[in-house]
Amino acid sequence: MRFTILTLFPEMFPTILESSILGRAGKRGVIETRLVQIRDFALDKHQRVDDAPFGGGPGMVMKPDVLDRAVSRVQAESPGRVIMLSPQGKPFDQEDARRLAEMAHLILVCGHYEGVDERWVQQGADEELSLGDFVLTGGELPALVILDAVARLVPGVLGDEKSAASESFNEGLFDHPHYTRPAVWQPLQGGARRVPDPLISGNHGAVAAWRRRQSLLRTLIRRPELLQRVAWSKPERRLIEELAKDLEAMEHNGDPPMGGDVLESHDGMKKS
Ligand code: SAM
Repeated sequence: MRFTILTLFPEMFPTILESSILGRAGKRGVIETRLVQIRDFALDKHQRVDDAPFGGGPGMVMKPDVLDRAVSRVQAESPGRVIMLSPQGKPFDQEDARRLAEMAHLILVCGHYEGVDERWVQQGADEELSLGDFVLTGGELPALVILDAVARLVPGVLGDEKSAASESFNEGLFDHPHYTRPAVWQPLQGGARRVPDPLISGNHGAVAAWRRRQSLLRTLIRRPELLQRVAWSKPERRLIEELAKDLEAMEHNGDPPMGGDVLESHDGMKKS
């Protein structure tokens, strides 16, 4: 899969694109990333890419003609879907990542300063995506985040394809909690903490059942609305209802949820 990023600051990208999983995927040719300096498409001798806003006010606005030439050149070489990064766009989520991972070529356009002339956005962008309800200095970090989330769903990017399939937001659920050695860990402060028994039971069925229950429970506690988006089978719906009832009773009694083994170590998210 190909990603082209149009930016005024291409120097912000190489460390991330050349490191870890993305770096290896790039070396193996599973993904191809290309950085395009928008300024190269300014025609005047000062290579101006922005100008003062009509109507006055602070900041500078990126010029439509420069972006038009830059994106048209990229499209002429290899057509792709043009994504404008914008705080006013649709909030990017895992479903977008899955949808975009099906494309052959994504063209990510990074705004800067006050943003981009609206005429270009309307004429040149296929969609606008936001990273969340906050304003960043530029579209470079959102472009990297979206590239990362999409690229790891491209077959061959992750070493083990199963890891993407079992992660948070698949089937509308959070991932279950993970543990590694030692089985009993003594923190520098406080009492020893054990790995939950089913995980060291050697019983695959018990492990799978525990993990499923924990996924449902975490989602129920932290983001219950995610569960509404899924068509659950009858047994799973029953399990969710049972867990919800248990939780309600525990909250009512002031108990930590489910014996505390899931959420106790995660203070910020503690429910009790
Ligand atoms: N004036 C714009 C507004 O208030 O909506 C904000 C412009 S912002 C300072 C400059 C650029 O950063 C935007 O054009 C966009 O490309 C990028 N940007 C900022 N926040 C973003 C976010 N939450 N998601 C995606 N892109 C963002």
